[in-house]
Amino acid sequence: MPKYTPGAVAAKELHHDLPAAIFQSIFEAAPGLYLILSPDPDFTIVAVSDAYLKATNTVRAKILGQPLFKVFPDNPADPQATGVKNLTASLNNVLTKKMPDTMAVQKYDIPLPTRSRKKFEIRYWSPVNSPVLDRRGRVLYIIHSVIDVTEFVEMKQTKQEQVEVADQLRQQNKLFQAELEQGEKELEEHQKNEQEMREIDKLKSEFVKIASHQLRTPLTSIKWSSEDLLTRWDKLSDDQREQYVQQIHASNERMIALIRELLDISKIDIENFTTSAELVWLPPILDQVLADMAKEIEQKHINIDQNIDPNLSVMFFDPVWLRLIFQNLLTNAVKYSASDQSVTISVARQTVDVLISVFDSGCGIPEGQKSQIFSKFFRADNAKELVSEGSGVGLYITKTIVEGAGGSMWFDSTENKGSTFYVKIPIKYQRPAAKRG
Ligand code: ADP
Repeated sequence: MPKYTPGAVAAKELHHDLPAAIFQSIFEAAPGLYLILSPDPDFTIVAVSDAYLKATNTVRAKILGQPLFKVFPDNPADPQATGVKNLTASLNNVLTKKMPDTMAVQKYDIPLPTRSRKKFEIRYWSPVNSPVLDRRGRVLYIIHSVIDVTEFVEMKQTKQEQVEVADQLRQQNKLFQAELEQGEKELEEHQKNEQEMREIDKLKSEFVKIASHQLRTPLTSIKWSSEDLLTRWDKLSDDQREQYVQQIHASNERMIALIRELLDISKIDIENFTTSAELVWLPPILDQVLADMAKEIEQKHINIDQNIDPNLSVMFFDPVWLRLIFQNLLTNAVKYSASDQSVTISVARQTVDVLISVFDSGCGIPEGQKSQIFSKFFRADNAKELVSEGSGVGLYITKTIVEGAGGSMWFDSTENKGSTFYVKIPIKYQRPAAKRG
């Protein structure tokens, strides 16, 4: 026996007894947005819920019996409007498939209740069209139900806009940051250049001080020797005269060497690192340097060995710089070697570089002073003892040139055993980026 509760009985009775007008009232009062359309070609509006009227600013009496798209045309101010087209397609889909059709969110603007009906309000809808079928499966009506999702879409759009603005800000920030970094870099570069300039100025004036001091020694020696020669000529023996002339000559040689270094310093325009790189063939430059040094080499009976790579190619380099490199390395090798020792010059071609090495078996460099060897004016204790004359700028100048030309310079040395100085320079010199703005 089924159990009947009083409530269930009341509901059953209500269902059976409800007149059509009450059903209509219930439909119209439903909170959802519903439009009932006839399946005719105009999709005539046959019923509408109050909520739909409210949402679309329309009045029931004015829209019932009207073709759907007469009441809700596309917004003529929006050339992109596809509302009519999309809705027609969906409704036709319902008619043919006799199945509900869920549409994508539509932008379907609503005419404002003005007389001209020319003003539209932007709206977004999420519509579903469902068929009402009779017993034989024919479409009696189409329920067009929509949810107004304008707020949601606008919120999404605002969010999207915010994301875009944030993105733009981030981009701008990045640019700004890059500009700032560039500015900082330029400033740093500028400060570095200024610092370098100050260093160079200091170096130049220090060198001039040292050079003039050192020039004074041989000059004084020449002065005394020549005065003695002139005033005591008759009293001097031939040997003494020769000794004086020898002294004058030696002092003069020292002066020439010093002046050459002075000229070298002015030649390397470290300031801009200007160079007159040209196509050069290295062997004759080396030969010329050795010819200039012939006297020292001969005096000390130094044996010079040359090891020139047969694959050596023509270089694109400043010949003055190349000469300076050889001059400094070979002068040192000969100067710091003992008589009868050998000096070996090797020139090897590497992929994009030329490796020059100068080997000697001379006094070497004391372990504790190796780190200072490339510092300007530095002379190791053993070198000072061995050769009193010397400026301590040769290696500094050489390293500056080599590094300025994109190369590198280093050495191996053992005190009392000898040294090898290495210079690696590019076969093709490339002017470094301009240093000063
Ligand atoms: P200078 O030779 O006029 O003193 P350099 O700048 O050419 O100046 O060399 C700096 C110092 O490096 C030298 O005083 C010496 O102590 C050391 N040096 C350079 N070349 C050699 C070498 N071939 N053997 C030993 N010591 C060297």
